[in-house]
Amino acid sequence: AFSSAPITATLFPGDGIGPEIAESVKQIFREAEVPIEWEEHYVGTEIDPRTQSFLTWESLESVRRNRVGLKGPMATPIGKGHRSLNLTLRKELNLYANVRPCYSLPGYKTRYDDVNLVTIRENTEGEYSGLEHQVVRGVVESLKIITRQASLRVAEYAFHYAKAHGRERVSAIHKANIMQKTDGLFLKCCREVAEKYPEITYEEVVIDNCCMMLVKNPALFDVLVMPNLYGDIISDLCAGLIGGLGLTPSCNIGEGGIALAEAVHGSAPDIAGKNLANPTALLLSGVSMLRHLELHDKADRIQKAVLETIAEGKYRTADLGGSSTTSDFTRAICDHL
Ligand code: NAD
Repeated sequence: AFSSAPITATLFPGDGIGPEIAESVKQIFREAEVPIEWEEHYVGTEIDPRTQSFLTWESLESVRRNRVGLKGPMATPIGKGHRSLNLTLRKELNLYANVRPCYSLPGYKTRYDDVNLVTIRENTEGEYSGLEHQVVRGVVESLKIITRQASLRVAEYAFHYAKAHGRERVSAIHKANIMQKTDGLFLKCCREVAEKYPEITYEEVVIDNCCMMLVKNPALFDVLVMPNLYGDIISDLCAGLIGGLGLTPSCNIGEGGIALAEAVHGSAPDIAGKNLANPTALLLSGVSMLRHLELHDKADRIQKAVLETIAEGKYRTADLGGSSTTSDFTRAICDHL
């Protein structure tokens, strides 16, 4: 037998509950003997002029070098003259797609027990281009930018993802009946890419109808791809279907194969430092990172242990109606490994 060298991955524990849930991930990864060495980076206390934000140049370089990382929540300090941390990461690392798998957790009862879908959100343009201004007093304007380049890129990613994960259908979500030029171009790009994947069923669903269908019967969907704002809203709707933000992982895909996985929740200042946070979202984000690295054995093992612990119901954190601390829950997962 031979042992291969460990993979170096960047870890941003983040703010608030971030360090507690990051500790839990490290402990569980150690227990599962995941061959990863973490390179930890913290949010700075001063603005780094090279990034114009509290994120240091060194931490961005770390993700660029390692091409893979895990990120806890980051609270952007209020003040002037700097960029938000999440925006800095997105722009500097060109994180063009946000991928959020949502599946029902066995044993944790919600309205549906058959959700199994993935939302893929365009992450760089659309309504989030930051181009807003006042035309005259009482009239403001916001520009929605859709480009062929960014639309093709996210569509390519969605079909590639569907194929790689054995999924059968990609639905493009849009409002092209009203936003004829912008969403029209987005759809045109999706159609072009769909032609290259005849084995995958392609459909187009208008966003309002999509919301109705998701709430009525989420099992109708498989992979969904959409422009930025729709993705922001629909991905939270889907998180709600399976039990909320404490459970849902996500992964940001960047140019050149960069993957930065992150929990979608914030820093939860109300429970920070109290050993009460649920580490599941960050852990499952770590699992997506392992899948990106094709460490499927380790990913399966950790995912199974997390799901079993939640299903068993003996150790659950307060957000899931239990009374376990973060460390009790973490230990229970380690026992399931
Ligand atoms: P939040 O997600 O931090 O908290 C909302 C509610 O959910 C709180 O009651 C919190 O206790 C609970 N919660 C969240 N995660 C939990 C977990 N893992 N376990 C148990 N309970 C959990 O949202 P907020 O209060 O609106 O934001 C707080 C800060 O986080 C703000 O500074 C915001 O900018 C930042 N934020 C960062 C990110 C990110 O880094 N991706 C995302 C959202 C918010």
